[in-house]
Amino acid sequence: MTLIEIAQMTIPQARKYLESIRWPNGPVCPHCGGVRQWKIRTKSARPGVYKCRECRKQYSVTVGTVMHSSKLSLRKWIMAFHLMCSSKKGVSALQLQRNLGLRSYKTAWHLSHRIRLAMKDFPVHMPPLQGTVEVDETYIGGRMRNQGRGLKLSNKTAVLALVERKGRAYAKPVKRVDAKALKGTILGMVDENSTIMTDEWSAYHGIGGFFDGGHGVVCHSDGEYVRGVVSTNQVESFFALLKRGVHGIFHHVSKEHLFRYCDEFSFRWSYRKVDDTERTRQAIKGADRKRLMYERMVNSDIERS
Ligand SMILES: [Zn+2]
Repeated sequence: MTLIEIAQMTIPQARKYLESIRWPNGPVCPHCGGVRQWKIRTKSARPGVYKCRECRKQYSVTVGTVMHSSKLSLRKWIMAFHLMCSSKKGVSALQLQRNLGLRSYKTAWHLSHRIRLAMKDFPVHMPPLQGTVEVDETYIGGRMRNQGRGLKLSNKTAVLALVERKGRAYAKPVKRVDAKALKGTILGMVDENSTIMTDEWSAYHGIGGFFDGGHGVVCHSDGEYVRGVVSTNQVESFFALLKRGVHGIFHHVSKEHLFRYCDEFSFRWSYRKVDDTERTRQAIKGADRKRLMYERMVNSDIERS
């Protein structure tokens, strides 16, 4: 599906599209899981509202999702999902505001963060990473201006990424890059039959003992980047993309929201081999059972993200 096709959808078509993704086998009550319902057809009723025969509560396709009680039209929601799923490096809130004709930057900013929440796959909605998993950490964020020798590391946030060869990615900010933090995440996220690939950073020492496939170490300090199957090239490509997005498009991402951009870039990486339509479907599917209240997010300064 193209953006133009989405833009031409009628409201009932947009609702039908969302329903087919959320409920491929017919409506399911988000309150109790009941599958028997009436469609409410009285004149005063809002369109697309069902009444559950089990718990008697009402619901529509957006209830209990990131779209819950949003004033935005369903069509604009689908367009926003599509825009964020189809651009490789992501879309800024300003661009969303312009493309969708949204009244305020605040609305666009909130919209983009809710879609990032829908894109969050790990750790709940995905089986552990498997096969050969490349692991690396980097520093992201901080101001681009005056960067140089005077740059303090504290200005930046460490991000850890785990990337399956030819597969999925998971990234998250970490407070420290010590053995406890890195190993804890790796053990929690990776299947024990896997092989771990890292550089020679001491925090990874001994990680091979936890995995059947052991631990391959590439020695960057010796100028080595690939030794047979041992490399961390894919996780480095992932970081290159994340950095281009965060520095180029989002300009400055505040520390407290960096994890959302990590979720977004992990999602797009994990679904990079399917087309835009399918990637958009997957993100919309992920909107289920996640809600994000604006107030909870905006304790911090909106301008900074
Ligand atoms: Zn119910």
